[in-house]
Amino acid sequence: MAKLYYYYGAMGSSKTANALMTRFNYEEIGQKALLCKPKLDTRDGERKVRSRIGLEEECVFLEDLMHYTEEEIRRYQCIVVDEVQFATPEQIDRLSDIVDFMDVPVVCYGLRADFQNRLFPGSQRLIAVADCIKELKTVCWCGKKATCNARYNERGIVREGEQVMLGSNDEYIALCRKHFKMGMLGPDFS
Ligand SMILES: [Zn+2]
Repeated sequence: MAKLYYYYGAMGSSKTANALMTRFNYEEIGQKALLCKPKLDTRDGERKVRSRIGLEEECVFLEDLMHYTEEEIRRYQCIVVDEVQFATPEQIDRLSDIVDFMDVPVVCYGLRADFQNRLFPGSQRLIAVADCIKELKTVCWCGKKATCNARYNERGIVREGEQVMLGSNDEYIALCRKHFKMGMLGPDFS
């Protein structure tokens, strides 16, 4: 039985590297895995999934996958979705249909919560419907597990703003909840 998997983690928890590895693991045994991501995530340019450690692969947009026929989807042994937090609830439901009615596993990677510790639409839906939910871990500068994605700029931590700010110079850093609350970005920030 195919399953809908949701692997979540804060910034820097190797979600994209894991997504690329999952795809590679299928290819290595001669099976096909389709890599996709929501169109909203355009940080890395067009139709590419790129991880911090330098791995990258071509992908399709999740929006385009929504129009694939059952026959086209069944050509793949697995669907891998990166940056899934940006997916809409409707897209997540469609992914669950692929699992249930086409018996193709769907493996999703993404953030759980935004810079205000609120769920993204895609993560909220996945937490509700995924068969398997697992956390990918990363650490805060203090050594504790990082669960919060702090937005910051040259003035420090940013608390207000849109959930998704495209074209902004603000950056993100993973912090433990305590240091997120305190707005302490680490020893490299004064
Ligand atoms: Zn900390």
